[in-house]
Amino acid sequence: MKRHLTVAALIAALLVPSSSASAVVHPSEDTPTLRMRVSVLKEMQHKERQRRRQHHLKVHAIRTYERKTVEVGVAPTGTFSGSLPRGYSSTLLKYHSTVLAAPAMDAYFEACQRVGHYIGGSGYRSHAAQVSLYSQKPGLAAPPGTSYHEVGLALDVFNVSAEEQAALFATGWRRVRADEPWHYSWKVMG
Ligand SMILES: [Zn+2]
Repeated sequence: MKRHLTVAALIAALLVPSSSASAVVHPSEDTPTLRMRVSVLKEMQHKERQRRRQHHLKVHAIRTYERKTVEVGVAPTGTFSGSLPRGYSSTLLKYHSTVLAAPAMDAYFEACQRVGHYIGGSGYRSHAAQVSLYSQKPGLAAPPGTSYHEVGLALDVFNVSAEEQAALFATGWRRVRADEPWHYSWKVMG
């Protein structure tokens, strides 16, 4: 006799004391079949535990994000002249030490979640900081008023692994400057 039980019912049956095992396994079944059934049930129970654990981890990661992400409260200055993507918000968020504009931060955090750790990197830079950097490294930094760092949509991250790069690409980050392999921008060409 073949029984078709749901996974939940099989797991529930496995959880009952062994004296009630006949409730699941037909008494007339031979021992090898019974052993096989029990191992299948155990495997299912194991998978269920793993699924719950993964779900818990995901919930934990989101809570950590909510806790560690703080509004910086510094709006980019009005000197920026480039075009901004749809959904751009000047709200700046900070995750660990990386500061980005709200929609770019969401994408960045998703990339961190994909790899399971903080990727790192330097994002937002004030207009004053861009002026200062440009005076020190004119060959490397973009002229003030033209850098996407000034609006929190660019990220400088060094020594990214292939996995981290794939996660950044998958969440809308692009490498648009061949001469700056560390520079990523989010849905903008600069
Ligand atoms: Zn950069």
